[in-house]
Amino acid sequence: MNYWQKRQQQLNKQLEKDEEKLKKRLSSYFDTEYRKLDKQIAAYYKQYGMDNVIQYRRLMETLPEEDKRLLMEQMDEFTRKYPEYASLMPVRESIYRLNRLEGLQYSVRVQQLEIGAAENEQITAHLNRNAERGVNAAAESMGFGKNFYANNPDISKLFVNVPWSNGENFSQKIWNNTTKLANYLNSDIAQGIARGDSYERLTRRLRERFSSVSRNDAYRLIYTEGTYVMAEATMQPFTEDFEKYRLSTVGDGKVCSICRGVAREVFNISDRQPGVNFPPLHPWCRCTFTIEVDDWDKWMEDYEKRHGNGQAGKVANRINSDIISSSNTKEDIQVHSVGEINRDIYKCITEDIVTDEVIITENQIQHILDRHPDAYKEVINYLSDIIRDPDFIIEDKHDNTGLVIKKVKLEREYAQMVLRICTSDDNPDYKNSVISCWEISEKRLQNYLRNKRILYKKE
Ligand SMILES: [Zn+2]
Repeated sequence: MNYWQKRQQQLNKQLEKDEEKLKKRLSSYFDTEYRKLDKQIAAYYKQYGMDNVIQYRRLMETLPEEDKRLLMEQMDEFTRKYPEYASLMPVRESIYRLNRLEGLQYSVRVQQLEIGAAENEQITAHLNRNAERGVNAAAESMGFGKNFYANNPDISKLFVNVPWSNGENFSQKIWNNTTKLANYLNSDIAQGIARGDSYERLTRRLRERFSSVSRNDAYRLIYTEGTYVMAEATMQPFTEDFEKYRLSTVGDGKVCSICRGVAREVFNISDRQPGVNFPPLHPWCRCTFTIEVDDWDKWMEDYEKRHGNGQAGKVANRINSDIISSSNTKEDIQVHSVGEINRDIYKCITEDIVTDEVIITENQIQHILDRHPDAYKEVINYLSDIIRDPDFIIEDKHDNTGLVIKKVKLEREYAQMVLRICTSDDNPDYKNSVISCWEISEKRLQNYLRNKRILYKKE
C-alpha cells in the first residue's frame, strides 16, 4: 500500500470516529424527541379517551383554543431558532380551521422539521470538519505543505451540501426524510385511533417507526454523504496535476463488491461523477480512489516545471498506485473455494443467484485474521458447514447480502458470516463471497432475532 492509500485509510478512520460521536448525539436526541411526542399522545388519550380508547369522531371536533395557541408557539419558536427555514412552516391562518386530529398531525410535522433542522446543523459541522481534513491531507501529499487550505475557510463550501445525486443536496434529502416520516407517523396516528388502538398499542407502533426510521435515514445519510465529501475534498488538490483515476474498493480489509466492476476501469478526473463512476456509487459505499499515471517520468518533469519545489520525486512515490491497481484486477486476487449454497435456502437473500460456488479471498481471510482473531481460529474451519446448513439468515444493510448464522461446536456461541450473493448484475467471473465472519453470543443472536428482519429460519 502506498503513502496516499494509507493516508486515505487514516482519513476514513477519523471520519468514522467522528461519525460514531455524531450518531450517539443524534440517537439520544431522537429519544428525547420521541418522548415529547409520546407525552402529547398520552395527553390526547387523557383528554379525549375513555377506557384507554379515543373515539375517532371526538377528534373531528374543533381544536381547542389553548391547543391552537401551543401549536403557534411551537411554530414561532421554530422560526425564531431557524429563520432560514421559516418558509417550511405551515401558514398560520390554516391553524384556525384545524380539528383535534389535524392539530396533533400539524404538531408532528413541525416536530419533524425541528428534527431536520437540528440534523442539518450537526451534519454540516461534521462534514465541514472532514472536508477540511481531507483537502489538506491531499494537498500535503501533493507537496504543498501541511495546511495549504488553512487560510481558505470557505474551501469546504465546494464539497459540503452540494447537490450530487438526483440533483439533491443533503439538506434536501433530510427534508425529504423528515416529511416522509411525518406522513408515516400521521397515518399511523389516524389509523390507530380509527381502529380503536389503546395508548400502549399506538405508541408502541409510533416508537418503533420513529426510532428506527429516524436512525436509519440519518445514519445512511451521514455515511454516504461522508464518503462523497471525503472523495471530492481529497480529489480537489489532484485535479490540476493529474488526469486519471481509478476507483479503489479495497479499504481497511473490506472489499466493496458492488463497486468491483467499475474499479477495473480508469476514468478521467474531469469525467468523474459521484454515484456513477466516483464514490459513493451506492448508499453505504466507502470506496476511495487511486491516481493513475501512464508515464511517471514525464509526470515528474511536468510537475517540476509547474511547481519547481523539488518535490516531484517524493510526490510520485506517495501517489504511485501501481501496487494497488494490480491487486485490483481479479487475476491477482487469491481466492479459496469454501463450499456451495443451496439455492432453495439462499433465494431469501435474492432470487437472482448465478452460481452455487462460494469463495473467500485472501484479503477477506486477512481481514478476519486482523479483526476477529478468535473467529479465525474457531470459525474459519466451519465455513462450509455454515454455508451448507445455516440456522438463520438475517437481512443485511447491503444489497444481495445476508448474515448467515449457525451454531457450531463452540460453547453457547454461534458463528456469523456475512455472505454476498453474486447476481447477474455482477461480473460473470465473480462468485458468491464470504465478506467476514465472527462469533456471536446467544444473547446477541436473540437480540438480532428481535430487532432485525429474519429471512430464513431452519425448520
Ligand atoms: Zn463502493
